[in-house]
Amino acid sequence: MFRSLKIKEPNIEIMTTKTNSTTVENHDSMFDAVIARLDVAAKIYGLSDDVTTILRNPQKQVKVSLPVMMDDGKLQVFEGFRTVHSTVLGPSKGGIRYAMDVCDDEVKALSAWMTFKCAVANLPYGGAKGGIKCDPRKMSIGELERLTKAYTVALADVFGPTTDIPAPDMGTSGREMAWLVEAYNKVHRGNFPGVTTGKPVGLGGSLGRDAATGRGVMVATLAALKKMNLNAKDVTCAVQGFGNVGSHAARLLHEQGIKICAIGDHTATIWNENGIDIKAALNYVKENGNVLKGFTGGDEIKAAELLTANVDVLVPAALQNVITEEIAHHIKAKLIIEGANGPTTPEADAILQDKKVIVVPDILANGGGVTVSYFEWVQNNAGYYWPEDEVNAKHDASMNLAFESVWNNGQQYKTTMRIGAYITALKKVELGIKARGNF
Ligand code: NAD
Repeated sequence: MFRSLKIKEPNIEIMTTKTNSTTVENHDSMFDAVIARLDVAAKIYGLSDDVTTILRNPQKQVKVSLPVMMDDGKLQVFEGFRTVHSTVLGPSKGGIRYAMDVCDDEVKALSAWMTFKCAVANLPYGGAKGGIKCDPRKMSIGELERLTKAYTVALADVFGPTTDIPAPDMGTSGREMAWLVEAYNKVHRGNFPGVTTGKPVGLGGSLGRDAATGRGVMVATLAALKKMNLNAKDVTCAVQGFGNVGSHAARLLHEQGIKICAIGDHTATIWNENGIDIKAALNYVKENGNVLKGFTGGDEIKAAELLTANVDVLVPAALQNVITEEIAHHIKAKLIIEGANGPTTPEADAILQDKKVIVVPDILANGGGVTVSYFEWVQNNAGYYWPEDEVNAKHDASMNLAFESVWNNGQQYKTTMRIGAYITALKKVELGIKARGNF
């Protein structure tokens, strides 16, 4: 097991023993948590106050009311949000989330992360995020279609293939993106597949997009293990979340020889110290309403136990803020690959840093999705579509490049990979802001 192995890589020593402090203040707001990390990175890197101030303030925030006729004949008004954090490096890019806890603060935070994520991934994009406060599981397909089209029409002047390009996120998928394109096309009287990404294949979607975020998690895991002089075949792993990111990540990590000992979703958490048969789990989920409940490929454990399980690698790929201060004290994994956005609180970060746990941060680890979204947009603009092998090869090369930049910045500034990732992004955004000048 990894814990008993000596890590020989000298760079790891630098990173884990003499790091600059990344401690941040306590906060309630998710956006404040992003800004707290931005401030830490800005200080360590030496970013000018002017650029920091620009990045502390999202460029555009829109809130819309969406009246939708429900199946029972009653009208319901939903709240929709879109925040464009930055367009310094290109049109803003970011998903649309359908969930009951969607709010202004969350969308703002996620939009800023997208600015940094796109910059880390070397994409010519800025950052945005959107969402609708709703419970998609309790709505019919017809209601969801009407809601998605109402949201698109309300934001038809914000979205655009060269201005602001959405994508799926929690609670949305290619289906919603197809509806969005349809509504946008009607408003703007044309055919604009590049107005969004994550579309179904055949309707302008890219091969490889569906698995891309999980694939990026796999590539980032292998790159991190290499830095630690560890072989994938000697490593165990737990994956929280078995949706788009978690299920593809578990499958691809398993294919690399990593033993997946724990998987979990909102219905069940499964532990098998001999390794879970991921193919069987995927088949089970497919045939049982997309949930793990009832899967018999291991013992059922409590949800929180997955995060502190006795494994080498932990992949949170479900919710934000799950690795709290309390959980961080009990984490046994020595490598965390953040498939989800914001799974680790800033307070937990400090504890993990003290424990010398390497955290490959969300803005790097889950950047595979937006990278292939970019490829989808490039294919839409060119009207020429690539085979899946080509998409995957370009994706892997891009992820490895991003990983190296983040790693090197972490080493150069004697800080964690998270702050190294922010510095990687800040260098690019700073260049863009300074080169463009201001009013
Ligand atoms: P999804 O809706 O496909 O899957 C979410 C999974 O989390 C489901 O398996 C669900 O059961 C599980 N889950 C929900 N509540 C849980 C709980 N309390 N405990 C354990 N599991 C729980 O969503 P997704 O697209 O896989 O996104 C997951 C995370 O990854 C989100 O933070 C999202 O922002 C992030 N992300 C997604 C993409 C993408 O391309 N889909 C890209 C980057 C980041």
